[in-house]
Amino acid sequence: MRLILLGPPGAGKGTQAKRLEDLYGLKQLSTGDMLRAEIASASDLGKKVESILAAGDLVSDDIMVEMIAHRITKPDCEKGFILDGFPRTVAQAEALDDMLTNHKLNLNAVIEMQVDEDELSKRVQKRAKEDGTRADDNVEILKKRMEVYHEQTAPIIPYYQSKSILKTVDGMQSIDNVASAIDIILKID
Ligand code: AMP
Repeated sequence: MRLILLGPPGAGKGTQAKRLEDLYGLKQLSTGDMLRAEIASASDLGKKVESILAAGDLVSDDIMVEMIAHRITKPDCEKGFILDGFPRTVAQAEALDDMLTNHKLNLNAVIEMQVDEDELSKRVQKRAKEDGTRADDNVEILKKRMEVYHEQTAPIIPYYQSKSILKTVDGMQSIDNVASAIDIILKID
């Protein structure tokens, strides 16, 4: 099974992706985590993207597409994967389509997690307090990340809608209820 979890920062994509990974053996591919690992290891790529993440901007499509293209063919993705944080632009979505077609793979679902933005701001502030490791978890940068989401990422929603693959869940529910809604979409009992 191959899925995309879509939604603004703080929508709960990572939490739900982790659960799907633990329960069903699908690999969570979080591009944010991959980039943070590059930064932590002070690799050339890490040095290049550090200030971009800190500012809440998007890393270039070329870098991101290459990162995912390498990743989805690894053996741990054979049972399937959950894309968490990719694609974030229509160009990335189109590149993903090409990649999947080349590997004769399909997407089972794109699940949009819809949330209220005031609630998001609260969640991200809470996360910033509990886990001070993310330089981009503060109110100013969250504002920037929300703008970037609306301007650059939200246009992928109609893109997937037009392919009749988009599903929506109410991300304001409890974690368990969001999980159940996702399971229903995926027809997992
Ligand atoms: P996330 O953990 O998914 O919120 O990602 C953290 C940051 O990593 C984002 O604010 C971007 O700067 C960068 N990033 C992650 N995924 C992508 C992507 N697919 N395209 C561009 N930038 C990305």
